[in-house]
Amino acid sequence: MDPVHIIGAGVSGLGAAHYLAQRGIPSVIHETGDYVGGRAACLQHDGHAFEIGGKNFSSGWPRFNALLEEFAIREFQDQHPGFHIVLNDQLVALEKSKTLTGDLRLARALGLRGALQFRNFIGFAKQHSDKINYTSGLIETIEQRWDHAPISHHFTDALNAGPLRLFSIIMGAAEPDELYPSLMMNFASGFGKGSHHAVAGGLGRVHDGLARDKDIRLGSRITEIVTRDGRVTGLRVAAGTGTRVIPTRHVISAVPGHVLRRLVDLPAFGRVAFDRLRYFPLALINAVYDAPIFREGVHSIMFEPGSPLGHCSANRLDTPEHVRFTLSGRAAREVLECDDAQLIDIAERTFSQRLPIRARRRAVHVARHPGGICGYAPHFSGVKRDMLRAIDTIAGLEIAGDYLEGHTMEGCLTSAALAVERLAGSVPDAARVAA
Ligand SMILES: Cc1cc2nc3c(=O)[nH]c(=O)nc-3n(C[C@H](O)[C@H](O)[C@H](O)COP(=O)(O)OP(=O)(O)OC[C@H]3O[C@@H](n4cnc5c(N)ncnc54)[C@H](O)[C@@H]3O)c2cc1C
Repeated sequence: MDPVHIIGAGVSGLGAAHYLAQRGIPSVIHETGDYVGGRAACLQHDGHAFEIGGKNFSSGWPRFNALLEEFAIREFQDQHPGFHIVLNDQLVALEKSKTLTGDLRLARALGLRGALQFRNFIGFAKQHSDKINYTSGLIETIEQRWDHAPISHHFTDALNAGPLRLFSIIMGAAEPDELYPSLMMNFASGFGKGSHHAVAGGLGRVHDGLARDKDIRLGSRITEIVTRDGRVTGLRVAAGTGTRVIPTRHVISAVPGHVLRRLVDLPAFGRVAFDRLRYFPLALINAVYDAPIFREGVHSIMFEPGSPLGHCSANRLDTPEHVRFTLSGRAAREVLECDDAQLIDIAERTFSQRLPIRARRRAVHVARHPGGICGYAPHFSGVKRDMLRAIDTIAGLEIAGDYLEGHTMEGCLTSAALAVERLAGSVPDAARVAA
């Protein structure tokens, strides 16, 4: 049969190609960039593997762990065991594992009410972790109960300035007044499962496994999904100074929602739904020093509101001299237009205000994610239904991406598997091959 054309070689696009291949369906991936992995790419730079976005996974994620098993990837490295938050001008520890001393320390920093609210919230996410996702009914109950107002509205000021800002910055590159509780609950339940690790040597090994034997066209920028009478007929690709159309009847879009919105003509209700998705830009700096820049017991810091540095963590616990600075959040957006040298300077100066950097930098790489992280939308389940309904009006088009099932690599893989399932169910040829 004709190959399915996939737009984007991030985790979602590579995942879609992989799940198609499992059903014996060939694919062609079009990737505008010159590397695979998208926002979770792993780039070799100055002798280092620099992961420029997603890297940590949970042992509780079935699809991601199935890939690790399939590709015989069995060496992992530990993440930092907890965070420090700048709260009231102090570095306050936030441990991942629940301990009495941790609770007491938190209660002192947050006040009893804030500490209780926090424990209840996390407790609920953990207790219902199997039912909190963007396809289960429970997320809708959470949306109905909480999404009438942003995160900041629901919790104490200290909680918003501390742990909830940490979650907001990490999960959405945004502030608690810009994100909605259902997203935070989904994130807390997804990341709350299992233990967290990174792949030894970098995520590139996962991408290599996914990319093996696939037809991936780097430097192939899609400018339009061409449709006629409600069905896909081709993909318009940038070519030299013009464009050309590749005829195809089956397309999986694996680009972020805001990119897809510009590629295809959707009914008005679909355009409205896609426009409700929110993306928050960020820059991520990988830097390797000749000595650790954190001190004993501190491996990760979330900086205070108003700081251009969202957070900075040791990339792996066992290589503390390799760190990742993330310029994210409202104040960061004011400086993202600066050139690389200025961004590095801003990151190091901000960090030094907390822990003076006494080491020499040996290697550095700046990645910019103008689309950043998807901040979803309040009452997202309805938005998703409208997005899928709009896509359903175009025969031959399916969508995958981190704006559908949660913005983690597991969410991307789930969205990819569902897109392939829908396509195999609705495309007679594919269904025949699958059968
Ligand atoms: C800083 C950061 C940290 C993160 N940390 C984690 C983490 O620890 N764990 C985790 O699970 N997740 C994490 N994430 C989230 C995870 O990285 C993303 O959800 C995931 O990488 C998104 O993959 P995707 O394939 O949906 O999109 P993308 O990775 O954005 O892939 C889309 C691809 O499409 C290409 N493209 C765009 N337009 C076109 C076009 N017109 N034609 C052809 N190609 C096009 C892009 O170049 C890109 O390669 C993090 C994200 C960021 C930014």
